[in-house]
Parts: sequence; C-alpha cells; structure tokens
Amino acid sequence: MTTPRARLTVLAGPTAVGKGTVSADLRARYPQVWLSVSATTRSPRPGEVDGLHYHFVTPEEFDRMVAEGDLLEWAVVHGRNRYGTPRRPVEERLAAGEPALLEIDLQGARQVRTTMPEAQFVFLAPPSMDELVRRLVGRGTEDEEERARRLATAEVEMAAEPEFDHVVVNDDVRRATDELVALMGLPAAVD
Ligand code: 5GP
Repeated sequence: MTTPRARLTVLAGPTAVGKGTVSADLRARYPQVWLSVSATTRSPRPGEVDGLHYHFVTPEEFDRMVAEGDLLEWAVVHGRNRYGTPRRPVEERLAAGEPALLEIDLQGARQVRTTMPEAQFVFLAPPSMDELVRRLVGRGTEDEEERARRLATAEVEMAAEPEFDHVVVNDDVRRATDELVALMGLPAAVD
C-alpha cells in the first residue's frame, strides 16, 4: 500500500458553484482537514468569526502583507474586495508532512499553478450550465442586463475547467466533499 505524499490541494470553480458550502461541510464533517484561512478586506458577515472563516484586515494591513511577500497568492474578487492566502501556515503545514487545502477563486488558483505547480488543482463544477445560471441569478430579482453579465461571467469561468487536474461535480454537497477528501488521500467520514 502506498501512502499519498502530503501535498497542497487547490479548490476553485465558477462563482455560485457552492465552494463556500463545500468548505462549510468540510469544517463540519472533516475537522481533521486543514483548510487555509484567507485574509480579506471585506467586512465580516453575520456569524463569521475572525481567524476562523477569514482574517478580516484593513486595506492598509493587506497592502503590508502584499509588500512583505506574506501572501502565497491574492486577487481582487468580483471587482471589489481583496482576498489572499497567508503563505507561512501553508508552508509549515506541508513541511510537517500534512496535507493542506485552499479554497480560492480562479485567479488565485492560476497564481498557485505558477508558483507551486506540484499542487493538485480541483475544479468544482455545477451539474449543468443551466443549474449554474439558476444559482447565479438566484431569486431572479436582477434585471436583464445583470443576468446577461452574470451569464457571461459564468461562461468565461466554466472555460477554465481544462486547466484543472480533477473535476468534482457539486450535485450534492456531502458527496462532493467526500470526493474532494478522497482526492486529498484522506479517509472518508464515517457518519
Ligand atoms: P466570499 O466573500 O463569498 O466569502 O468569497 C468570495 C470569493 O473569494 C470566493 O470565490 C472565494 O473562493 C474567494 N476567495 C476566498 N479566499 C480567497 C483567497 O485567499 N484568495 C483568492 N484568490 N480568492 C479567495
């Protein structure tokens, strides 16, 4: 039997595919999986805990992290806030022989592909393009222009799929999480 080498796994995918839901399911059912805590300049949402869901930092603090090379990757997401992966915790984890997981956007995944090509890249995909559009458009309160803009974004993001090593379809959150954990070489949850 071979033991999979501890490595970095990067989970990315189009907007609204459900990366956040998969992360939440991971935290709940796989507390042994180490998930990187990103730094972000956005404000906490109700229920979000500083240091657990994100490190909530000021734009000045984020500037400092970028200037000092503290981030493995970073990006402006949805044209608004900055998000980045603190480098040191990931490096320490891997150096200790333990697997690590990043849940980041496509721009960030491409940066990691350049700096850490030995990582494995997992694309979280919707069951279908129609389903992604349904999730993106939500309750349908957007006007026609906004719907068209979101659809165009979804098409561009879906085109990134061939850049990835593996595709996990988010048809069912628990199933998708289990598949991701198996790709990381970790045992499945027993519940
Ligand atoms: P939210 O604000 O809804 O928590 O996250 C918005 C987006 O930011 C998601 O697509 C998420 O994958 C992405 N994101 C979260 N942390 C990071 C990070 O450290 N780096 C990058 N590039 N994207 C991130």
